[in-house]
Amino acid sequence: MIRFTRDQEAFRKTVARFVDAEVVPQADAIDEAAEFPRKLFERLGQLGYFGLRYPEAYGGSAADMVTYCLFAEELARGSLSLAAVAAMQSLMGTDFIFKFGSEDLRQRYLVPALRGELVATFALTEPNAGSDVANLTTRAERAGDRYVLRGTKTWVTNAPVADVLTVAAKTSAERGMKNIALFLVDRQTMRGVTLGKKIEKMAVRASETGEIVLEDVEVPAEHLLGGETGGVEKIGGILSEIRVMTSALSVGLARAAYQAALDYARQRVAFGKAIVEHQAITFKLADMLTSIHASLVLTYQAAAELDAGRTITREAAMAKLTASEMAVRVTDEAARIFASYGLAAEYPAQRYFRDARFLLPGGGTSEILRLIIGRDLDYDRGAVLG
Ligand SMILES: Cc1cc2nc3c(=O)[nH]c(=O)nc-3n(C[C@H](O)[C@H](O)[C@H](O)COP(=O)(O)OP(=O)(O)OC[C@H]3O[C@@H](n4cnc5c(N)ncnc54)[C@H](O)[C@@H]3O)c2cc1C
Repeated sequence: MIRFTRDQEAFRKTVARFVDAEVVPQADAIDEAAEFPRKLFERLGQLGYFGLRYPEAYGGSAADMVTYCLFAEELARGSLSLAAVAAMQSLMGTDFIFKFGSEDLRQRYLVPALRGELVATFALTEPNAGSDVANLTTRAERAGDRYVLRGTKTWVTNAPVADVLTVAAKTSAERGMKNIALFLVDRQTMRGVTLGKKIEKMAVRASETGEIVLEDVEVPAEHLLGGETGGVEKIGGILSEIRVMTSALSVGLARAAYQAALDYARQRVAFGKAIVEHQAITFKLADMLTSIHASLVLTYQAAAELDAGRTITREAAMAKLTASEMAVRVTDEAARIFASYGLAAEYPAQRYFRDARFLLPGGGTSEILRLIIGRDLDYDRGAVLG
């Protein structure tokens, strides 16, 4: 049973007001510009949203996962592009600095990043290593008191504007997952970090993505985040959070598409009545609403489990699989209700439809999620029903 606390409800309302006043009016324009939305990014930092999951000592607010998901959901309702940028800054881009960085690194990078003064990102994926992390080829070789990094990362969120990157690299030439380490690369002070190809894409266009080329980048040894091995386990340590957060993004986007379709169906007339009164359209909306609700329950159930300190590898995968596939279907149905106007730039239905595709690979593809769920197929486990 999902019951938000009064504080959580009040927080949702605060975020929703901000989204309606400052994000929704700009969502189409930032999508069209397809550039890092710096002003909104800075605003999110000033409002403290990047620090939700971090302790107050670093400028955060130590919020629980349910609260963080409320933020993700509401922001995605306004703009999935902006929500993707915020997710990177508030989770993957900063988590490893907080967990494995020295106090000095936290003060130099985490604190300004949470204020929105530095752009932080995470670079794992490579041209030949997406789901198959064992295939990474970026190398980190020790040379005295530094490591020298060489390789190419791709699909890096905020690549053109990132000030600081957590880079996954191999500390040995062996294939496999063991010798993967995480390094904090400061683009302003370390030479050899260049921008490769920019990826033009149809979804989350204001969250720019591109290649980062590392050419003999000298990284001081204190920028090694948590040892020369165990990078995969460190990443695994936040995968459930990433997946549950992505489920919340999916719910937020689907809600936006649903509301737009419902409003349109109420005012569009065909054959003498509003199309919402044609049962085929009513049924579509009923199915959309039901599937959004089902995903919402799975998402916040999983978030509450995380808050209770449980390991929810399977449930997080189930939530993300269900919610991301739901968002793709709901945004498709919404565009169908708009018919030709679902293709028109003047309506947001086409943006929702395009943006939903981002939710499929982010946090693991549906196939990878099914592999994870498939590792533990027994129904009778407390976490499913508890
Ligand atoms: C908008 C966007 C932003 C991103 N931002 C970042 C970022 O900031 N940093 C970062 O590091 N990465 C980022 N990514 C990359 C993303 O994490 C990867 O794209 C994702 O891990 C999938 O990798 P891939 O695209 O190489 O697909 P592949 O791994 O090549 O998969 C291709 C297909 O094969 C299937 N497949 C693969 N392995 C199996 C298997 N064992 N069994 C069954 N099916 C399989 C997949 O499900 C998929 O359908 C981003 C991606 C997008 C779209």
